[in-house]
Amino acid sequence: MFRSIRWKFVTIYFILVLIAMLIAGIFILREVDDLHISTASQQLEGVRYNVMPGLEEIMELSTNEEQVKSVIEDNNKIDLAIGEEIWIIDDNRFDVIASTSANDPSFLKEDQYINLIIQARQTGEKKEVIARGNNDQRSMTQVYPIRYRNIDNTGYLVLRRNLKDVDSTINRIREIIVQVIIASSLATIVLGFIISKSISDPIKDITRKAVLMSKGNFEHYVQVKSNDEIGELSETFNFLTRRLKKSLREISLEKTKVEAIVNHMTDGVIAVDNNHHIILMNPKAIELLNFGTEGYFESDFDKLIEPIAESLTYNKIASEEGWIGSQSISIKDTIVKFSYAPYMNDQNEKTGIVYVLQDITDAEKLDAMRRDFVANVSHELKTPLTSIKSYTETLMDGYVDDPEVQKQFLTVIDSEAERMTRLVRDLLQLSNFDSHSITFYKEYNDYLDLTKKCITQLQMASSKKNIEIKLLTTEKQLVGAFDLHRMEQVFINIISNAIKYTPEEGAVEIQVLRNDDDCVVQVKDNGIGIPADDLVHIFDRFYRVDKARTRNAGGTGLGLSIAKEIINGHDGRIEIESEFGKGTTVTISIPLDVIDF
Ligand code: ADP
Repeated sequence: MFRSIRWKFVTIYFILVLIAMLIAGIFILREVDDLHISTASQQLEGVRYNVMPGLEEIMELSTNEEQVKSVIEDNNKIDLAIGEEIWIIDDNRFDVIASTSANDPSFLKEDQYINLIIQARQTGEKKEVIARGNNDQRSMTQVYPIRYRNIDNTGYLVLRRNLKDVDSTINRIREIIVQVIIASSLATIVLGFIISKSISDPIKDITRKAVLMSKGNFEHYVQVKSNDEIGELSETFNFLTRRLKKSLREISLEKTKVEAIVNHMTDGVIAVDNNHHIILMNPKAIELLNFGTEGYFESDFDKLIEPIAESLTYNKIASEEGWIGSQSISIKDTIVKFSYAPYMNDQNEKTGIVYVLQDITDAEKLDAMRRDFVANVSHELKTPLTSIKSYTETLMDGYVDDPEVQKQFLTVIDSEAERMTRLVRDLLQLSNFDSHSITFYKEYNDYLDLTKKCITQLQMASSKKNIEIKLLTTEKQLVGAFDLHRMEQVFINIISNAIKYTPEEGAVEIQVLRNDDDCVVQVKDNGIGIPADDLVHIFDRFYRVDKARTRNAGGTGLGLSIAKEIINGHDGRIEIESEFGKGTTVTISIPLDVIDF
């Protein structure tokens, strides 16, 4: 209780007032006492003026006892009411010659009085002493030397009076001072309480609200009741509360923003602290690492990552210089690139590692495709170029004289050049599809007419192999909106493939029909067919089942890729079914009612 500011305040206040009152009391008492003593001294001096002239007229005091008595006992010379007394003592033995007092004069033989008399004799002046008697009462004594006609020392006048009246006045004043001290002390305690309450109450209020604030409650403000220092403190506290509330709101908003960004990032993010605890892991990271859904926070990251890649553990990275780097790791079907770097505290010390995880499976695939593509193109061009070069060199060397052989050589060169032209044309076309720079000129045309036209065009090739092409349809015409030139390219490719990959005497059946709002064209052959493993890659660029054979047949491996792009451009579908050794069926379905042309 006494540790509270309130009690401290009251105690200090009380002690201060008490000390002030005591000092003032002592000072007053001393002053009053001095004043009364000097009055008493003057009164005794008055007696001296009354009796001294008479005494100085007597030549020898001890022999004129009666005359001395008459001088001192003369009426009105002393005030008996205040206890004034006179003793006349002789110069030799200090014996009492005469006295107005009935009191015992033996005290005059005491050392201090003898000394007083001797001092008076030596100095010829008044000597005074205040002494406390046996009854604890003070008395004042004055000693004067008596000189006959101011020449010879004849004896001593001793005047005494008690200081009863002075002591009783002092006692009374002391009582009053004590009463005043008690009253003012009580008033001090009461006032101190009231004043200290006005100081301690706002402080208590601020303390209570500060405790609430520390628990995260920022809704409480302190009442500002005055404009003194306490009021200023209250205002500052309220200002602090408002600022803290605002700052916390901003921080939490920032945190929410960062959380939203991290949670919706397409890359995975993991933050691990110095104790290997995961302090942040976004959903993408959980997905990429194939972890479950929860329970990873505060768990040991090294134990989790070790089965995936030991080189990515905190311990391993922390043992490296700089803690910065990246690694690509295969996790099931995906390739994940881990980039890591340390994060610092305010003293610029490394306090953990941040991992950024990127799914680079597609990028890697694309890269592989690009590499394959370049290899394929180089390979496709190399064969005809080698052949052209060797035939040209032979002709230029002039070893071939026979015009018939020369013509044969030139035919080969021509057909190889033609093959390269076809290849470049097909590549250019695919590149245009990739860059979306191809426009389809769609017009209403008859699918049936187109099919018949293509069959006629390929008649020669089919009859060479004795292959019969049958057109099966119940429709008279099947009109749809399509790019005639490009659709013809698709049909020619599909039908010519059927002829190409069907042995002599085989059969090709083409069915054209309407299925709801689609035109369906089905080209069926009973040729060599495609193995199931190859079927999934059949629309890949440069993909050929039997590479050597198809190259000889003049194929580039790009025909079906182009066909698929064109059919896609018409919002249609192209599918291939095949049984190895038995035959292949290619089915195309294209919407008839295309509006956006
Ligand atoms: P190509 O110009 O080599 O014919 P395509 O893209 O048209 O290229 O065909 C890709 C590959 O698909 C061919 O090389 C061939 O192996 C196979 N193929 C296509 N059509 C047929 C079919 N009707 N029968 C058997 N194999 C086929």
